[in-house]
Parts: sequence; structure tokens; C-alpha cells
Amino acid sequence: MAKLHLANGIKPIQNEEHGEDSLIKIRNQRQATLQGDFTSVTAVLPKVRIEGIRVEDSAKEPKIIDESIPSVLADTAVTLRLFGDGLTENTAIAFTHEVGDYGDPCKFINKGEYMVIKDSLTPRSALVEITAPSPIQGSKLYICAKNIKTNLVKDEEKYIHQGQENFKILATHNTLLPLWATLTLILICLIFSALFSGLNLGLMSLDRTELKIISNTGTEQERKYARAIMPVRDHGNYLLCSILLGNVAVNSTFTILLDELTSGLFAVIFSTLAIVLLGEITPQAICSRHGLMVGARSIMITKAVMALTAPLAFPISKLLDYFLGEEIGSVYNRERLKELVKVTTDVNDLDKDEVNIISGALELRKKTVSDVMTKLEDVFMLPITSVLDFETMSEIVRSGYSRIPVYEGTRGNIVTVLFIKDLAFVDPDDNTPLRTLCQYYQNPCNFVFEDVTLDVMFKQFKEGHKGHMAFVHRINNEGEGDPFYETIGLVTLEDVIEEMIQAEIVDETDVFLDNRSKRRRNRPANKLQDLAAFAERHEHQRIHISPQLTLATFQFLSTSVEAFRPDTVSETVLRRLLRQDVIHHIKLKGKTKKDPSTYVYHQGKPVDYFVLILEGRVEVTVGRENLVFEAGPFTYFGVQALTQNVGVAESPTPSAMGSLQNINMDSMLRHTFVPDYSVRAITDTFYLTVKRSLYLAAKRATLMEKGAMSKGATNEQFDTEVDKLLQAVDEDISISGEHKTPSRQVSPNPSVVPASPIARVSFSAPRSSPEPRNGHYRQDEQEKLLKSP
Ligand code: ATP
Repeated sequence: MAKLHLANGIKPIQNEEHGEDSLIKIRNQRQATLQGDFTSVTAVLPKVRIEGIRVEDSAKEPKIIDESIPSVLADTAVTLRLFGDGLTENTAIAFTHEVGDYGDPCKFINKGEYMVIKDSLTPRSALVEITAPSPIQGSKLYICAKNIKTNLVKDEEKYIHQGQENFKILATHNTLLPLWATLTLILICLIFSALFSGLNLGLMSLDRTELKIISNTGTEQERKYARAIMPVRDHGNYLLCSILLGNVAVNSTFTILLDELTSGLFAVIFSTLAIVLLGEITPQAICSRHGLMVGARSIMITKAVMALTAPLAFPISKLLDYFLGEEIGSVYNRERLKELVKVTTDVNDLDKDEVNIISGALELRKKTVSDVMTKLEDVFMLPITSVLDFETMSEIVRSGYSRIPVYEGTRGNIVTVLFIKDLAFVDPDDNTPLRTLCQYYQNPCNFVFEDVTLDVMFKQFKEGHKGHMAFVHRINNEGEGDPFYETIGLVTLEDVIEEMIQAEIVDETDVFLDNRSKRRRNRPANKLQDLAAFAERHEHQRIHISPQLTLATFQFLSTSVEAFRPDTVSETVLRRLLRQDVIHHIKLKGKTKKDPSTYVYHQGKPVDYFVLILEGRVEVTVGRENLVFEAGPFTYFGVQALTQNVGVAESPTPSAMGSLQNINMDSMLRHTFVPDYSVRAITDTFYLTVKRSLYLAAKRATLMEKGAMSKGATNEQFDTEVDKLLQAVDEDISISGEHKTPSRQVSPNPSVVPASPIARVSFSAPRSSPEPRNGHYRQDEQEKLLKSP
């Protein structure tokens, strides 16, 4: 309901003298009419005199023009309250644009006559409902009024002009725009409202750094979009002001236009809903994901808006720039960058290693060399007094390190570094003193303080002037006496890189996975590292050859002699076998050509051992024709003594091949090989003999090893067992004196027969052999078995 509007200065008139008279007259007339007293009806009705009007109700709130004239929207229903005299229920009003004074006849009356509302009649006022006429010739409408003639009263006949005072005038006005134009504008406003709020979020959330990143790394399309937006986005505050100004402007216009069309309350509710749903939420949701595209595609509109709003937006943006500082985009420091990578792990396409590398690289500056160094007590180093013999060299090889610190006196006093490559020309047999080698190469040591950060260390290693290893020292000023430099560990490029990639690097020679935790690497023993084993001396070996020659023998047997291939005699067992008393030496000095001790084999004389010449030369006389030829190192004879059987089928069934039964069967078949040639040493000769019994024991041990390994036993556990087994067999051979070579001595105590370790191992035996009880042989049976060949 519109507010009541009363023309200025007009008050409802009540209880005035002449007013009361008219009222009495009207009342009398009405009573007379009702009672049928026609005599009392006066001939002429009182003249209508309207003294003021008030807009009681209107669809749109009236405006006030000329300070006091209410102006209502044309073609809408308006309820007017008329104040004055002579108002009856037959009073009618009309409007004219003609200016006149009270009492003038109304000549040009507008379309539309309106009767007062009967029930609203009071002595001095009445309501009348009109449809506001369209404004013609100016918007002011003057009132004409008359009392209409009935059967009982005489009509005034003509409308009387009610005068031109402001309080008797009603004005009308049309809407600002036609309906279609208003609707179109509302729609446009809504679209722009959506665009502006979308751009506000989309463009402002893309900061300059991000745009630069996209323009360099995005897809072709993204780069295009980013490049289009960048010039505008560079003026962040200006853009922000323009967008916000534009947004506010279209939102207000939208509400006003809506208000023109509807009532105020409806306009408020509808505009709120429309702006929130269509103008804010939806565009912001879209632009938060596709801001780049929307921003780039609407860049011309944005530029136009910026130009339009420049008079206000530009100065405001300059003020903002001045007070807030110019926008520089997101800047990530080390911590934030690291965190950014970590927290976006689920959505970015980096894998775990890459994330670790990035985090590790960013943390380099926070860690010091003392955090990653290998402590001095764990460092493999050599005293400068060492001699580079086979044992030292094999120890170096076994350590797996390629740079060995060399100290003098105490371990803390590191004087130089030995590089493994420096050993390339060093023969272990020369027993070169380490000092000599170090003096020759003079490799410098690089010392760094414990608090040097890893990035600095990395840079130093990268430059490479001081090598890829540094010794970490600190100033020790604890206790009494002068402060001194104390070496506390070593750090290498690998330590720094491991920290950078946050993972352990393991190379082919590394023994430990992690030097600090001392976690050992799980891998089969390296052959090179096993070389050291050949350097060991064994008491029961009466003749020693150099470790290199032992190694060469090992390699030759396991690769070139079929009977000693790893599938028949495993490498572990073969290595153990070579530690037995299997080396023999023939010295020729003081011996004649025919001396039997110079013979390795006699033609036609049965033998049960295999021979491999290691050093020296032999003469071989073959067959009845006595063909003679010479042979040198790594010539071998008598493989048949190890492999041939007599009295059984030459080729056992494949299923029995390599089984313990098979070996036991072999061992029970007494076999002798009769060579049709003689082998005689013609120089001092070292040679290796492997007896059939030792060989069969080795084969047995190999089978047992395979079985034990498949059940999860370790090499170390098994080694001792094999050692004992072979040693027992070997000693047994020596004691029984089945084969004597010129240089060998028979055991002084032949009655001592060591308990066979085979007693501790269960295995199935052939039918012909005594059956084991509960999987074990009796002691006597085992000994019999063992000695059977
Ligand atoms: P390279 O891989 O270049 O042959 P390397 O294996 O001897 O050299 P690095 O790979 O540089 O040695 O280092 C591997 C790990 O071993 C590092 O943790 C390092 O601190 C440690 N390290 C290097 N040399 C020694 C040494 N002589 N004694 C103990 N630890 C060492």
C-alpha cells in the first residue's frame, strides 16, 4: 500500500461551519429519499468543491513534482482521497489538462470519469478509484467534478473545474523505458553481473607468476590465453577496481529496473536470488576452473570496461598501488616450495622419487656435512707403513672403496689418499711399501669444517678441483691444552647426492647399503672380494703356491675342466678343495732322468688321481710308439680316474644322475685308471692332484650344499661343513698313503682317522649299501662308505 500523500498545506477539513450545513442538507436529502418524502427534496444539489486530494493507494509509489504535486505511474490503478464540500455518493470526477479556476466549466475532459466510492463517503472526504491517465501536454491533471443527476436531484450537468492550486493537481508519468527494453536490459545486466563476478575470481586468482608459468609451460591453447590476459593482469588493482565497479553498477541497475517492473519487495527478493545464483555462484564456480579461458575470451569486454570505468577506477587503483604496493604475484620460498610439492602429491603428476628429489635438493642448505659423513671409526683406512702385498690388496678390494685414506701414527692424522687406480701397476708380489706409492702420487686431502652446508659441499664437489672426497674436521677445544683440528669423518659426493635424492645409491662394489646405519648389502659374494680367500694360508697345506696362481687354478678348473664345472663341483666347494693338501712339487736337482720320483704318471700303472700342471714343464710319452711331447702349465691328465666307472653301465639313468645314491655307488666301485702314457717332470714342477675319493667327496658336498641352500642355509654355515668334509677325506688319503708323490710325506700317525663330518649329514644310500636307520648311518657304516673307493 502506498503512503498517503496529501498536497502540501492541505488538511482534512472537519467541523467547519459551512461544512456542517452541507452535511445536514445531504443527510436530510438522503432521509427524505428513503422515506419517500419527495416534497423535502431541494431542487438543486450543493455544488461540489474539492479543496485537496491525496494519493491513498497506488501500484507504484508516487513521485512528488513541483514540491507538492504527487505524480503517479500512468495506466496504473490509483486510489485518491478527495477533500471538500458537496461530496455525495453521486459525485463524479474527471481530469483535464486545461488550466482553470474553480467554477470554470471543464471543456476538454480526458477519457475516464470516476464515481466516489459509496462506503468511503465522510462529511468532508471521499475515496475515488481511478486509472491514472497517460500524460499528454505535460503531466499535470486538473480535477473536474460534478454531482450526477438522479431521479430525485437535479443534475449539475457540467463538470466544474476545481482550480489550479497545487494541492488539487495530480500528475502522471510513464515508465522510463518500454517493457521490452526494460526486460532486455535486465537480462544484459544479469549477464554482465555474472561475467564480472566470474572475471573477478578467475582473473584475480591467476596471479602474475602463475600466468608467466602457464605462458611458458602450458599447452598451446593455454599459452595463448595466458599471453592475452597478462597485459591486463599486470595492472592488478586497476583491473580489480574496474571489475568491481562494473559489477556493482550492473547489479544496481538490475535491481532498479526490476523495481520499475514490480513492487519493491518482489524486486528485492528476485534481484537477490538472481544475482546470487546467476550472477555470483554459477560464474564463480565456472571461472574458478576455467578462469583462464573465460578471461582470455572476454578480454575485449574487460578492456572496454576498464576504459569506461577509468575515470574512477584508475585513480583508485593508483591509490591502492601506492598504499599496498604493486602486486608481484606469488613468490615461493624454499619451505613453501617444498610444501607445495608435498601437499599436491595426490594431484600433480610427480612420482614419489621426484618429490623426494625436489624436497631433498631444497633441504641441502639446511644440512651440514656432519649430518651425512661416514664417521672416522667406520672409515676403512690404511697406515702409511702398510705393504701392498696380496693380502693388503685383497683387503682393499674386499672393502669395496675406491679411495682409501692413509694415516700416519693415529687414525685421525690422515696424510694422503690412495686411489684404487693407483694400484693398477702395482704387483702384489713386489710387496711395495704404501709410503713409496703415496710419495709417488701425492694425492692431496681436502678438509672441510663440520658445519659446511651440503649445498656448499656439493658445489665444491661439482667443481672437482679437490676431488669427490673430503675429510670433515672440527676445532677441538675441549679439555686443557691448545685447541687442535680433529678429523671426525669423511664425506663423498655420493653422500651429498644421496641426501639430495633422499635415497641410497648402491654401486657395484659397495659393501654397505648405508654407511651410517651399517646396513649390509644383500647380494652374493663378489668374486673379487673372494680373492682374499686365496691369500689365506692353511696349515694342512704342505706346499703353498701364490694366491694368484691358486686363483688362476680355480678359474681354470671351474671353466675349462668338465669334471669341475660349477654344476658338478660348486665354486664354494672347489675353493675349499683347493685349500686341501693338493699341491705337489717335483724338484729335479740331484735326480736322474729315470728317477721314479720325477714321474707324475707311469704308463700302464693304475692311478686314481687327476693331475693339473701348474708350473714347470713335463714330458709326455704316449703309447707303444713312445710318442713324446712336452706340456706346460695348465695341462691336465687323468680326468678318467675321476669320472670313469668299471662294472656298471657307463651312463646311469638320467634320474639318478647327480644324486647321492649315484655318488655313493661310484665310491663303492673300486676303479683304477690305467694311463697309456707317462708324464715326467723335465723342470721343477708344481702340480695339483685330486684323488677320486676327494673328488667324490666334493661332488657329495656340492649336492649337500644345493640341498641345504634350497632350505635356506647360508653360504657361511655350509662352508665350515664342506671344509671339514674335504679336509677329513684329504687327511684320510694322506694317512692311508694311497697316493704318494715324491714331495709328500706320509702322516706320522697313520692310526689317527678323523671322525667323518659326513656322519652329521643324512642322505639316502643305494640298495647295496647299508640302509640308514632313521635317516642316519651307523658310525662304522659311514666310515666304510667314506673310505670305499
Ligand atoms: P666410487 O663409487 O666412486 O667408486 P666409493 O664407492 O669408494 O667410490 P663413494 O661411492 O664415494 O665411495 O661413497 C660411498 C659411501 O662410502 C659413502 O657413504 C662414503 O662416505 C663411504 N666411503 C667412501 N670411502 C670410504 C672409506 N674409505 N671408508 C669408509 N667409508 C667410505
